[in-house]
Amino acid sequence: MRTPFIVGNWKMNKTAAEAIEFVHAVADELPAATKVESAVAVSPLYVQAMAEAAKGSPLEIMGENIFYEQAGAYTGEVSPQVLKEVGANYVLLGHSERRMYFHESDEIINRKVFAALKAGLKPIICCDETMGRQAAGDKIHWVVSQILTDLRGLTDEQMKLISIAYEPSWAIGTGKSATAEQAEEGCYLIRQTVADIYNDEIANGIRVLYGGSVNPSNIADLMDRHDIDGVLVGNASLDPDSFLKLVNYK
Ligand code: PGA
Repeated sequence: MRTPFIVGNWKMNKTAAEAIEFVHAVADELPAATKVESAVAVSPLYVQAMAEAAKGSPLEIMGENIFYEQAGAYTGEVSPQVLKEVGANYVLLGHSERRMYFHESDEIINRKVFAALKAGLKPIICCDETMGRQAAGDKIHWVVSQILTDLRGLTDEQMKLISIAYEPSWAIGTGKSATAEQAEEGCYLIRQTVADIYNDEIANGIRVLYGGSVNPSNIADLMDRHDIDGVLVGNASLDPDSFLKLVNYK
């Protein structure tokens, strides 16, 4: 029922030329978007060029971040409406690196969610979990409290445009993925929280992704779980062959 969603997160990697080479390498090889939806979140510097190169292919080129206003005196920030204008339909929000290095709070992420929707961008909201929180048995409280604030004020209709990614920060870039059981537990918790705030129909309709050291070898096991509808992949999304293996995980 929920279309699997395979999302690459390039972070601050690749030159503009390498980004276009990637599109040329994968564009014709991707499964139809009705079977598996695929996207790469990239630097705003080459969203437009990549989106043009990807025209006619199911590959979505998306943003990694935006500001919470559409325009104005915000030196150095990325405008949601311009990101949409240059070809993005989705944007990552609240990635743990944004929370860690740029001090993004859930209140700020909530404002960005509204700004994205206003611009016509569909947010993928990332929800993290630290090793300390996990060790302290505080996972449920931590994950739920992020979601409650990130989603605050969204209507049922707006909720249908949201995806949420469960990304334990101890699994990001470490080569140590959560087990499929742990990942499923986190994604289930997120879906239950959405059901509690909204209702079962909305909770069962939205896509919940897992992220953290996903690669072509462990993706199938993760995607096999009932509440994992997709993956958010950093390192293993950079190489075209590896990305193609991810989208053809079945
Ligand atoms: P990783 O990154 O796949 O390299 O662990 C995931 C992410 O940061 O979204």
